[in-house]
This record gives sequence, structure tokens and C-alpha cells, in this order.
Amino acid sequence: MTLKSRTVARIHQDGPITVADFMATCLLHPTHGYYTTRDPLGAGGDFTTAPEISQMFGELIGLCLAQSWLDQGAPTPFTLAELGPGRGTLMADALRATKAVPGFHAAARLTLIEASPVLRRAQSERLSNHAPLWLDTCAELPDQPLYLIANEFFDALPIRQFQRDGVGWRERHVGQSDGHLRFGLGPPVMPATLSHRLDDTKDGDLVETCAPAQGIITELARRIAGFGGAALLVDYGDWRSLGDTLQAVKGHRPVDILSDPGQADLTAHVDFEALAMAAKAAGCGHSRLTPQGVFLDRLGIATRAQALAKGQTPEVQAAITSAQQRLTEPDKMGILFKVLGLNPVQGPLLPGLTP
Ligand code: SAH
Repeated sequence: MTLKSRTVARIHQDGPITVADFMATCLLHPTHGYYTTRDPLGAGGDFTTAPEISQMFGELIGLCLAQSWLDQGAPTPFTLAELGPGRGTLMADALRATKAVPGFHAAARLTLIEASPVLRRAQSERLSNHAPLWLDTCAELPDQPLYLIANEFFDALPIRQFQRDGVGWRERHVGQSDGHLRFGLGPPVMPATLSHRLDDTKDGDLVETCAPAQGIITELARRIAGFGGAALLVDYGDWRSLGDTLQAVKGHRPVDILSDPGQADLTAHVDFEALAMAAKAAGCGHSRLTPQGVFLDRLGIATRAQALAKGQTPEVQAAITSAQQRLTEPDKMGILFKVLGLNPVQGPLLPGLTP
């Protein structure tokens, strides 16, 4: 039985489900979920991420976190964590680049939060020298200084969608008819979490909320505020959510969201304002939302690209330049992707970010 027929049968019996329920089912169903059953990354997969484009990305992120660790007095021991580490590429590059930072590796307890058994295996192959600890949730992170990276993690968390309807909202649902999944709207509701959006939306506008993201940020922020540390959250999205950003991607192309559940990646843009507000509410400071291109330029990606290219063949040099451009240029990943840093309120800012 496919995940589609299971979902149709479930909706037939129990009624329409929220977009968040649909997303969680598609991505993380224990036997048919997209992430549960495959490694989706790279040229032969469905999408490519920054660390899979170039080693420079993970190297610069690693050095950024290590500098922040030094700036905060090199606390020992500390948790070096990643949310949704994919194939472990980013962390492997970060660890290689920080090998020469005195005391950093000895003090770090490498901790990976990963839902996919397939990707946990890939991470284990890449990172076995560093004896990683895997956790299911951020609530299990120890109470100690935390230095964390999340790249393209928050976009995979289930969102709910609400369409403005007069003075309230109607939630977008997934229902079924004739064996096919279809979007529909629920009855009028007035969720308290959306009261601040009544001023900047009009009838028919769609906004998205992501409760799991808020819970995760609260866990991270509480540790950073209480014990020190920093987090780098890199994703596509903007300061405030407006409009339908749910998308399905398969084989590097957009596909229909409802036609083949569990067979395509499902993501939504990240509402960074909601993340920043959750961090603030937990007593943690945050940086200005910064375009990825600006962040990587400030960390010295051009210098790193030159060093990597030195003495290489023209083909390799061209590939390095092309990767640098893909990560930083405004019409590629440079602006769509953004970076939000979390840091202790009185603590130094992460390198590359501003208040
Ligand atoms: N950060 C990696 C991979 C991004 S893909 C990179 O940049 O290449 C999203 C990652 O998040 C995958 O590793 C996926 O398995 C993981 N993931 C998605 N939802 C998750 C959840 N709810 N809990 C833990 N991991 C999750």
C-alpha cells in the first residue's frame, strides 16, 4: 500500500488533515517517509545543498563557530551540534578546518540531531573519528555551552497555513475526493498566535506558522542564554512569512505537492522573525538577518577559494570559482538563503554577523 492510498484512506475515515500533518507524514512516516527511506542529496538525488556544492561552506562555518568559542573564553566541555546533518559533509569540513584551533576538538562533544536512519548511517561513515552522539530531539541536549549549526533544517519542519478571511482565518487542509488528495479550507478560526498578523494582511492572504521550529529554538536559546554558546541558522526564507511557500521537489525539479506523497522533498520558507522572537523570549540575543552571500564574503570565501585554486588545473580552478559564485551571488543562493545567529545577550556576536 502506497503512502498516498494510506493517506486517502485515513482522510476518508477521519476527515481532512492539516498541512503540517500532511508534511510530517510525507517526510517522516516510519516506513514510507521521504527522509526515512532515502538519501535525497546530491546530483543523483532530488536537491543539492551548500555543503554538497563546496567544502568552503562547512570550513567557514566551522571556523566561525570556533572563533565564537574562543571569543567566549573557550568553555570546556561544550556541545558541538548540528541539526539535520544530511550526509555529514558540512560537519566533516568544519572539523577538518578547525583541527588547528587549540583545544577546540578536545573540548567538543559532537552531537547530531537526525531523524533519518539512512542519513544517520551516512553521518556515521563520515564522522566516526569524532564518536558522534545521535539524539532525536533538541530537548535531549545537555545543559552545557552549545555551539550549533543548522543548514536547510528548519525548512523541512511541518508548517500550518492560514488564509485570511475577514477578521479571522481559515486553515488550509488536505482532504480527499475520488481517491485523490485535494487542498481545502477549514472553518473560520482566530488563533492567538496570528493576532499580530491582522494588521499587515488582507482578505485572501496566506500566512504560515511552524510550531516545531519555535519549540526547537526555545531549547537552543535556553542553553545558549544559560551556559554560553552560539547557533548559526542558515535557510531560505525571509524576516516574515507571507504567501504560500510550500513546495515539492523531485529530481531537482518542482513537482505537484499532493500527487505522490513521500516520493518528493517537501519544504517551506523559514519565517526568521518567528525564530528570532522565540530566541528573545527565551532570553537569548540574535543577529540581524544576513544574506548568505554577504555572510560568506565577510568570512573570507574569496581568499579561501584562491587558496584552494592555487596550483590546480584550469578545470578545477573554474569549478572552485563556479561554486563560490553559486553560494554567494545574488541571483543564485546569495540572497534567497539567509543566516540568523543566536548568541548570549551580553556575549560577542558571531563573526560575519551584525546586531
Ligand atoms: N544540513 C544538510 C541536510 C539538509 S536536508 C545539508 O545542508 O546538506 C534536511 C536534514 O534534516 C536531513 O538530514 C533530514 O533527515 C533532517 N531532518 C528533517 N526533519 C527532521 C526532524 N524533524 N528531526 C531531525 N532531523 C530532521
